[in-house]
Amino acid sequence: SAVRENLTYDLFGRAIRELAQTIADDGYEPDIVLSIARGGVFVAGGLAYALDCKNIHLVNVEFYTGIGTTLEMPVMLAPVPNAIDFSDKKVLIADDVADTGKTLKLVHDFCVGTVAEVRSAVIYEKTQSLVKCEYVWKRTDQWINFPWSVEPPVVRRDGQVLDA
Ligand code: 5GP
Repeated sequence: SAVRENLTYDLFGRAIRELAQTIADDGYEPDIVLSIARGGVFVAGGLAYALDCKNIHLVNVEFYTGIGTTLEMPVMLAPVPNAIDFSDKKVLIADDVADTGKTLKLVHDFCVGTVAEVRSAVIYEKTQSLVKCEYVWKRTDQWINFPWSVEPPVVRRDGQVLDA
């Protein structure tokens, strides 16, 4: 369907505050926020500030090639973070959305067995997600427009249009 869930930067600001409040109320104090690039980077930055966590790591995962079109499985792109850095740490995985949940599962599985504790926070979680995140701001089954991916493309001086 053409119906979209639209997240503005204003709403994003509120969502992050509310998500952080939920995590704090739950008593979870992560040592590391592990963001899933690229969308999860926005989420991780906001949560890390709000939760006073100064340690952000990043993993690059490639899965979606277009709206609703994916590779067969998500893959972690090099450089993959060193799991040793996470041993005995409480980790909070941060992403924009759990849709199929495959991306989060990949990163979650990477942490399990290595870290002291791992939980996940997302702005949106869809019904079909095979991972149930501990912290979810909103549930939806629409395609979501994120503020960082709906702006008109940047055009380089030589006319090259920089759209994904
Ligand atoms: P999953 O592995 O859970 O299917 O998808 C995870 C990633 O796919 C998200 O981090 C996001 O980058 C992208 N994605 C999945 N669903 C949507 C959506 O509804 N809108 C947008 N903009 N990206 C999505």
